[in-house]
Amino acid sequence: MNQAEMVAILAKRVQTVEERIQAACRRAGRGRNEVQLVAVTKTITPEVAALLPELGVLDLGESRPQELWRKAELLPKSIRWHLIGHLQRNKIERTLPLISLIHSVDSLRLLDALEADACKRGQTLPVLLEINVSGEQNKHGFPLDNLNDVIARVQTLKHVRAQGLMTMAALDADLETCRQTFFWLRGLRDCLRAGLEPMHSVEHLSMGMTNDFEVAIEEGATLVRIGSALFANLPEGAA
Ligand SMILES: *Cc1c(COP(=O)(O)O)cnc(C)c1O
Repeated sequence: MNQAEMVAILAKRVQTVEERIQAACRRAGRGRNEVQLVAVTKTITPEVAALLPELGVLDLGESRPQELWRKAELLPKSIRWHLIGHLQRNKIERTLPLISLIHSVDSLRLLDALEADACKRGQTLPVLLEINVSGEQNKHGFPLDNLNDVIARVQTLKHVRAQGLMTMAALDADLETCRQTFFWLRGLRDCLRAGLEPMHSVEHLSMGMTNDFEVAIEEGATLVRIGSALFANLPEGAA
């Protein structure tokens, strides 16, 4: 497997996903420009991920901060990095300078720590709030029952800007259950948008992965996080 062959395989995967996104947008009467693909690179090497920019894929997502650091160091600066997994507070300082958007703010303690760090840097920091809509235990995200506390806290922030919500459907959920989860998140977004200060422009809905992204787009996703459909079972010995 040489690099040109790997690029050809990736190009085909990207094109297939792109066509599926376009078809879902058409079904939903939405513009293709309303949905951003985030390619989740957690299962591939930095060498393979480095081939993505030339295919026009510049938004990359990682779920582990350390892996994001490692890839960010090796890959072009043109990439926009998305953190989509749990961020421990002791990793904030190293992560923030690299990141375009954190999708996975999942506790008040983390919100406070991010605010403190962004304040120190004099930066505004866009984030999404991860919501545990499906209510599974052992899953990150704010539970639906303490959202009033979350909203009250978000109102006090000066540097962290809540720009939307993120969720994952329940493991092994069928598509109709996924759809209900996404429908819920959208309703929640609309409520928050009406209730929060305009500086928190709660617009984004980060929802939809390989198994459910088309349903998510039909329900209003603005960011889809796709890994396996792009990168599962790539040939060995790439690049
Ligand atoms: C791994 C991961 C994805 C991508 O999942 P696929 O099913 O491989 O597309 C999306 N979001 C999060 C939070 C993930 O950890």
